[in-house]
Amino acid sequence: MTYSYTQISQYLTCPRRYRHRYLDGWKEKDTRAAMLFGRVFEQALGAYFRREDPGAVLFREWSACKDQGLYFSSHDTWDRMLEQGIMLLTRFCQDDRVRMHQPRRNLQIKFTRPVSEKNDFVAYIDAIGKLDGTRCLLEWKTSSSRYPEEPIGLLALDPQLVCYSWVTGISEVAQVVFVRKRLVEVQYLRTTITDEQRAEFGQLVEDTIRRVESAQFLPHSGIRFPQNPCSSCPYIGLCLGKPELINIALVRRAGAEDLGWLDELTY
Ligand code: SF4
Repeated sequence: MTYSYTQISQYLTCPRRYRHRYLDGWKEKDTRAAMLFGRVFEQALGAYFRREDPGAVLFREWSACKDQGLYFSSHDTWDRMLEQGIMLLTRFCQDDRVRMHQPRRNLQIKFTRPVSEKNDFVAYIDAIGKLDGTRCLLEWKTSSSRYPEEPIGLLALDPQLVCYSWVTGISEVAQVVFVRKRLVEVQYLRTTITDEQRAEFGQLVEDTIRRVESAQFLPHSGIRFPQNPCSSCPYIGLCLGKPELINIALVRRAGAEDLGWLDELTY
């Protein structure tokens, strides 16, 4: 069995959510504009590092999404997001703080690590390059609001960065956050992950896999202010038994009753 950060994170958020997604085959519909825009923007960044035209790639790939029945949140529209994307690319080029040699090798890099005799862990790292002259692992994020930067050192607690540091053995890590707001902003956040954090994450992965293998899928439900994981959970229709909510947010993979498809998971 091959595990990924998304799987471990889904289990830790709510084991029932993991069961809905990975055992029963329910999957979120890929129509959220913000999510698709993030993927498109990543392709444009790849073009930038390959010395191609990132604006043209952004326009071409975002245009390909236009007729997919996108779901836009609050003030977003297709045009507005394109405009923000172009402004963010311009700002990123002007800043010129991230350098990358051999972009075809150092973008979207696959790392695999054995977890036990029968399990592997796989991760796709956005990039390895230099931020302000320091070699580090890089993750791109697009967001409609700034990432918090205080208290100082907060980023070292980001579980995805800890995970990727554990998989790659690289201690210097960074997030480049492309903030889509009225005045766009690019945040460059860098931190160091310690050996102890990596060792603890390895233990967390092993412990989580043990619980998955022993079929522990009790819900960690929650609807108490200010932590309301169920309210924003795409699987809430399943937990409440409401078909109308299921139809809005989810699709079920054909043949999902047959667990054989677990071997073909995408990450
Ligand atoms: S709605 Fe709540 S209990 Fe159900 S899967 Fe989501 S987080 Fe878990």
